[in-house]
Amino acid sequence: MSTSKLAYQTVLRWTDDQCREYLEHQRWPNGAACPKCGTVNPYVLERKTKSKNKVQKLYKCRACRKQFTATIGTIFEDSHIPLNKWFAAIFTMCASKKGVSAHQLHRMLGVTYKSAWFMAHRIREAMRDKGIFVPLSGTVEADETYIGGKSRGHFTWKERIQDEIKMGIRPKPHHPRMDKAVVFGILERKGKVRTITVPQVNAETLGTILRKNLDLPNTRLITDGNKAYKHIKHHVRHDVIDHEETYVSGDIHTQGIENYWSLLKRGLYGIFQHVDRKYLPQYLSEFQYRFNNRKVTDAERFASLMTQTQGRLDWYCQTNQAENPYA
Ligand SMILES: [Zn+2]
Repeated sequence: MSTSKLAYQTVLRWTDDQCREYLEHQRWPNGAACPKCGTVNPYVLERKTKSKNKVQKLYKCRACRKQFTATIGTIFEDSHIPLNKWFAAIFTMCASKKGVSAHQLHRMLGVTYKSAWFMAHRIREAMRDKGIFVPLSGTVEADETYIGGKSRGHFTWKERIQDEIKMGIRPKPHHPRMDKAVVFGILERKGKVRTITVPQVNAETLGTILRKNLDLPNTRLITDGNKAYKHIKHHVRHDVIDHEETYVSGDIHTQGIENYWSLLKRGLYGIFQHVDRKYLPQYLSEFQYRFNNRKVTDAERFASLMTQTQGRLDWYCQTNQAENPYA
C-alpha cells in the first residue's frame, strides 16, 4: 500500500493481525530482529490455544532464546487496547493541527478517559525527537516564552504569597512570571524547531543550549535584545532586533519563532486548557513533531511515527508516565 495514500478510514478497519503486520514492516523493514540482542532471522512460533489477549504468532531469538513480538519495547507494550485503536489515535494526533485532547480520543475511540489519557501520553513519547542529533544551522531565530500560570488552581502567585504569610514567612517579591514555565526555542528558518523547558532565562542556561544545538560556524543567530544573549556573539554570528524600536528590520526579526509560540499556545490553551507543568515537555514534543514534519502528508507522518514507536527501553522507565490503568 502506498504510504502517502493510507487513509484514516482504512486504518480503522484493519484487524489486529493487519495492524501487527504493518507495525512489523515499519519497525523491521529488513525482517524481525531480537529487541534484546539484535539477532535477525528468529524462529517463528505459533500458539495453538486461541486466547483473546494472546498474540498468535511470536518470535524466538536464535541467539538469546528470548521470545518476542512486534509490540515488545514499543509504546504498545502491555496495553490491552486493540492495535487499531492505537493506530487511529496516532493517525489523529499526527493529522491534527492543534493537538488532540484525551477527551476527544475517549469519545472517538470508545475507550475510557483514563485509557485515552494514557495512550496520548505514550504517543507523545514516541513523538519525542529520537533521531540522530543534527545541530541547526543557517539563519536561526531563538526566543523564550512563558507558558501557563494563569489559573493554576491553588497555586497562583497571590495564593503563594498568602500561604507564605500564613506560614510566617516574609513573602519575597515574586514576579508573576515565576508561576509560569519557561520554554526556550530555536527555529531554523524554513527548517526545524527545537524547544525545551528551562529553569531560568540567563546567559549561562541559554548560552549552553545554543552552543550545543547550533552548528556555530555555519549559523547566523537572531534574537531580541534580552541580555541573556549578550555574550553569544563570541561564539556565533549574532544579529539583534531591538523590540523597543521595531519588530522587523530587513531580514532581522524573530517572527518565525514567535509564530511558532502562538501555534503552540493556541493548541495548549485551546485544546488542553490546563497543562500540568511536569508533562509540558511531552506536549512540546507533540507540537514539535508535527511542525518538523509539516511538509509531508498526514499519512506519511503517521508512517514515519510508526518507525519510532519503539525506543530503547530507557524512555520507558525514565519519563513520567501516566498511571497505567491496566497494570
Ligand atoms: Zn536475542
